[in-house]
Amino acid sequence: MFRFFTKSISRMVMASFVFVLLLPLGFIIANLNQLSWDSTHNEMQEKHLLLAKSLEDPVKMYFSSHQKTLGIFANWTGFSTKSAPEVKQLMGQYANSLSNIVAISYLPADEGSPIINVSDEYKIKTSGDIVEFEYHPEERKYRKYDTKNSISSVIRSTVSNKPIVLIKHHIIDFDSNKKGTVFIELGLKPIQDICSKIKLGEKGHCTIVDQLGQVVAHPNKEYVKDIISLSSTGILNQLKNNNSGLFNFNSPYFGEEEVSGFSKVSGMGWGILVAQPKSELKSPYKTVISTVTTWLAVGIIVSLLLASILAFQITKPLNTLVTKSKEIGTRSDTYNLGSMPKNSPFEISELWSALSALVNRLHKSNREVRKLNYSLNKDIEKATAKLRATNKYLYEISSNDHLTNIANRRYFENTVNKILKSGKSGKVGIIQIDVDKFKYINDEYGHEAGDLALVHIASMMKKRTRDKDIPARLGGDEFVVYINNCSDKVLLSIAESLRKMVEDTPINWQGNEIKLSLSMGIVNCDLAKKRSLDQLLKFADEAMYDSKKAGRNHVSVYTFPEEPVKKLPSNKTLNEKGSDQKHTENNIVLAKEIEGLLKELPHAEANVLKKMVANAKKRNSAEEPA
Ligand code: GH3
Ligand code: MG
Repeated sequence: MFRFFTKSISRMVMASFVFVLLLPLGFIIANLNQLSWDSTHNEMQEKHLLLAKSLEDPVKMYFSSHQKTLGIFANWTGFSTKSAPEVKQLMGQYANSLSNIVAISYLPADEGSPIINVSDEYKIKTSGDIVEFEYHPEERKYRKYDTKNSISSVIRSTVSNKPIVLIKHHIIDFDSNKKGTVFIELGLKPIQDICSKIKLGEKGHCTIVDQLGQVVAHPNKEYVKDIISLSSTGILNQLKNNNSGLFNFNSPYFGEEEVSGFSKVSGMGWGILVAQPKSELKSPYKTVISTVTTWLAVGIIVSLLLASILAFQITKPLNTLVTKSKEIGTRSDTYNLGSMPKNSPFEISELWSALSALVNRLHKSNREVRKLNYSLNKDIEKATAKLRATNKYLYEISSNDHLTNIANRRYFENTVNKILKSGKSGKVGIIQIDVDKFKYINDEYGHEAGDLALVHIASMMKKRTRDKDIPARLGGDEFVVYINNCSDKVLLSIAESLRKMVEDTPINWQGNEIKLSLSMGIVNCDLAKKRSLDQLLKFADEAMYDSKKAGRNHVSVYTFPEEPVKKLPSNKTLNEKGSDQKHTENNIVLAKEIEGLLKELPHAEANVLKKMVANAKKRNSAEEPA
């Protein structure tokens, strides 16, 4: 989670906004809960208290007005001086003229029979038992508790059995003697009506209890009818200690906590409660909270949107700079950061300028490096070319003969050895050459003339050979030619034509014509036979010496002794002989050798041999084609 926010500066800015926004909001919401409840709670309870207090006067007035009226009535009608029927009649008139009086009674001070009257409403029920029920037959008066206070607690009516309050008035004569007491049973309906008018929310109601905590008025008619005591709620304590205030209790009626405004009716010790279940009080508070929360949510969403726009705006120049910086590496030398985005913060502007300067310097130094590279490459190219030329020269001087400028012995041996070991098929031909009587040239015309002769011979060799052949100087007046893959016949013709060319092209030295001739030995061999170069040179050398022996200016062919000599078929011409050609050529060479030998023999023997040779030639020519 944390890594997610630290990965991008936009996210970090965004997160900062969110934290800055949400933290105080969180505190506000947390406290709003309490604050809102407190204020709602207090406000409601104030209202309850006010209502409870406002009921105090009507309740008090209801009873006190009846008490006063009763006093006036009792004192001014002169009960004590009237007969019992008159008293009963007066009381009947009084009870009937005032509503809510359930019964009226007079108890003379001499404790004679009480005189009782009841209101019209209860007249039917007044006969006999009901009166006796509340009337104490032995004491012949109302219960003692009724005699202590002028207004009693709630009791059941002696007439209707309904809850009533007993109000009494003592009749005192001018001599302050007590003549008797008048009692009225006062119905509670007006009090209950006033109380029932109080309605708050769904369950908010008014409850009135007497000084004993007994229900006088309550939304539950059963509570009223049964004169239920609410002492379990702690109301008695409240009545004892406070005149008014807030009183919370567990309601036996709703089975939950109720909060109430409480007011004590002075002089009576009754309590008026305007109560409402706490849960209902919370309802407007909840509405407030949900409204506030909704608006807060809307506010947060709007703030988040604004925060993201702001974060984007703040980080935009930075992100642009990052993108541009990435492009530096991939774009050309002419690439620059361009103009800075509008409204960029000061720090970004500074960074942008610094990076721009850096990029320009980088481009400049890049160009310089490339320039340097270019000239360095040129120098290297030049040096390489020079080196190549030098190498070539070195190679040439190491592989060429310095005088004749054809291959030297080392080059020749290396190259031909490679060919011999290459494993290729075909033939390898070697022509061994030695200049005839070279010493004589040196001696007669000088060393330089000899050199010229050597150069001339080398040029003839180059002229006569093909690209794949290798003419070389072995040293002194000795030369050699490697002839690439040709028949014996061709090899011989190459050697012959070279010999002829040299013979026919004398050199001119200081006006003197110097004739040259070459002695040659040739050998031709299959590569498959895997002869070494030394062997081949040796064979060719042997053949060359044969040429020397044969009188020089001559070409001799080396014949491998192990090769069987095939007999020529008599009915074929030389041209048609094909593979028998070699045999004929060998014979020619042999004849020439013999001719050479004859020159060196004493005359008589030579003549004999000459005849033999002539015969042999005749035989040969007879075999040769016309
Ligand atoms: P033959 O016909 O038997 O070969 O007789 P020749 O005189 O040619 O004898 P040989 O081949 O032995 O002589 C080679 C001479 O070549 C010996 C040497 O003085 C001479 N020579 C060797 N190298 C050079 C050179 O580079 N220049 C010159 N001008 N002469 C050289
Ligand atoms: Mg020689």
